[in-house]
Amino acid sequence: MESTYTVRQPGHTAWSGPGLTWSQACGDLHEAEDRGLNPRIYRDDSHADVTKWVGIGIEPRDGWDLCIYCGEPVDMTREQAAVHRACARHAAALQASEEVN
Ligand SMILES: [Zn+2]
Repeated sequence: MESTYTVRQPGHTAWSGPGLTWSQACGDLHEAEDRGLNPRIYRDDSHADVTKWVGIGIEPRDGWDLCIYCGEPVDMTREQAAVHRACARHAAALQASEEVN
């Protein structure tokens, strides 16, 4: 089943939706931003804030989050945190080399 979305300025009534498709929600978000608002996109089913998926180019996926390092989607059923193993290794290596210097 397709997820639907609501665009809402926190603390206010919905700017648009519920029942928006992802592309409609992204369009309405930008329209609200153009008017000086700072709205967020929420999933209608879980009420989760999925605004960070805007600009990724794909719709938010159930069970997925975005890597804290590279911002690409991470399958949370396979990983223990929103981090790719390769990204975590890279970050650890960077930190280790900084500690040496
Ligand atoms: Zn990553």
